[in-house]
Amino acid sequence: MSELDRPPGATPAAPRDWTYAPAPESRDVVRIAERYGHFVGGQWLEAAETYETISPSSEEPLALVGQGTEQDVDAAVGAARSAFANGWSALPGSERAKYLFRIARILQERSRELAVLESLNGGKPIKESRDVDLPLAAAHFFYYAGWADKLEYAFANRRPRPVGVAGQIIPWNFPLLMLAWKIAPALAAGNTVVLKPSHTTPLTALLFCDVLRQAELPPGVVNIVTGYGSTGAALVKHKDVDKIAFTGSTEVGKWIQSEVAGSGKRLTLELGGKAANIVFDDCALDQAVEGIINGIYFNQGEVCCAGSRLFVQESIYEPLIAKLKRRLATLRVGDPLDKNTDVGAINSREQLEKIASLVQSGVDEGAEIYQPPCRLPEKGFWFAPTVFTNVAQSYRIAQEEIFGPVLSVLTFRTPEEAVEKANNTPYGLSAGVWTEKGSRILWMAQRLRAGVVWANTFNRFDPTSPFGGYKESGFGREGGRHGLEGYLRFDE
Ligand code: NDP
Repeated sequence: MSELDRPPGATPAAPRDWTYAPAPESRDVVRIAERYGHFVGGQWLEAAETYETISPSSEEPLALVGQGTEQDVDAAVGAARSAFANGWSALPGSERAKYLFRIARILQERSRELAVLESLNGGKPIKESRDVDLPLAAAHFFYYAGWADKLEYAFANRRPRPVGVAGQIIPWNFPLLMLAWKIAPALAAGNTVVLKPSHTTPLTALLFCDVLRQAELPPGVVNIVTGYGSTGAALVKHKDVDKIAFTGSTEVGKWIQSEVAGSGKRLTLELGGKAANIVFDDCALDQAVEGIINGIYFNQGEVCCAGSRLFVQESIYEPLIAKLKRRLATLRVGDPLDKNTDVGAINSREQLEKIASLVQSGVDEGAEIYQPPCRLPEKGFWFAPTVFTNVAQSYRIAQEEIFGPVLSVLTFRTPEEAVEKANNTPYGLSAGVWTEKGSRILWMAQRLRAGVVWANTFNRFDPTSPFGGYKESGFGREGGRHGLEGYLRFDE
């Protein structure tokens, strides 16, 4: 019956389903150049070699980007060294803070443009780049701007001094946010920077150079050299770099650690994870299900601290799995620029192949796979949200970082067993605990070997809060006052 046929006073019929009309964000807000060079000494340095960066949701070419050579890295380090020596490191903290505040405000003003570009180049849903990545990136600059003139108070009687030139290498899962995590504390502490973004997601870092110009940051204080891993390796090996800050895979992190050993360079590593999300039978179940979904499907699960291992207390296993599967079926997978999208595209073909092969290993080893019915776009790199039940601790899907929308469910009976199983991993980046009892949260937090333990929530970030790992998840902290320490030396 149509609305027009409805008799007066009759109750309107309930809609038959709740599918959403597409609501794509306009791309017109951002202008992408055909070709980019490297940003060195406040100028664009022509790149001798280039490669094509694409949109992972459509495989559409977006721009040609410079493949940084050793000479490009050398020019960038030279520019950073001269900016350090010729003014930046000697500038009063209150003056440095003004630049950081300015950058933060421009990020806010240009947030729509940057969010659209982030989703276009990286594949993440626009609602995440708009509501998480951009506000947090600006918040990091605001936060560290506040520390720039208070270092003497933050580290009383320790005479904090900048380290020098920082080489920073970042991954593709949060390109602009990781840039902010790295650059904001480095500048607040008086260092200069050479940053290499991931080769798959260079575009927001390149647009950020325009933000730097708008903020009138002195030339050479921040330099950006794009390219593949070889560009990062040249930065790690460069003799005039004083500190390396790296976020990425444990494998590359290990190589960097061995490379800088004995060189006198400072090092912080933020590496992989295999977080345990632990759900006790006294938790608020619906809230926990939301936390589990957010923990593993946020950013397609391409998150180092993703809650990829779910530990459920045996007594609530069945109702929890039923609710989880029902909720999973409501996730909308598709166009990252659509404001309704919950799960976007996988960042690259290589990453998609890695996810697919680990998922296949789960099936082969005997775990039970569940994927809700969903139609994936034909072009681009896509993977349906996946849950594995019947998982043994020894399976690869319970041990290795998948970095995709794949959850492995295991069970436990007692808190002691939960701790033992949760800690049974080479990683130690984050964990989550869901329970009504405050005392149990504290008991668990003391025993979980993880840098961050969330209680009745997951994937919460704040610039005031330090973040970092234990074991193979790396060392050093980013965020908070602790995040400054990696960029300071102390003449005690
Ligand atoms: P990588 O560790 O290879 O990449 C991280 C950054 O390091 C990128 O900028 C990369 O450049 C650069 N890089 C690569 N090799 C070197 C090197 N020898 N020296 C210096 N820099 C280098 O991670 P991937 O992107 O290849 O992802 C592989 C796996 O790593 C993922 O499946 C995931 O499991 C994990 N990962 C973890 C992240 C985390 O936040 N903990 C983030 C990203 C990935 P390039 O872009 O050219 O590769």
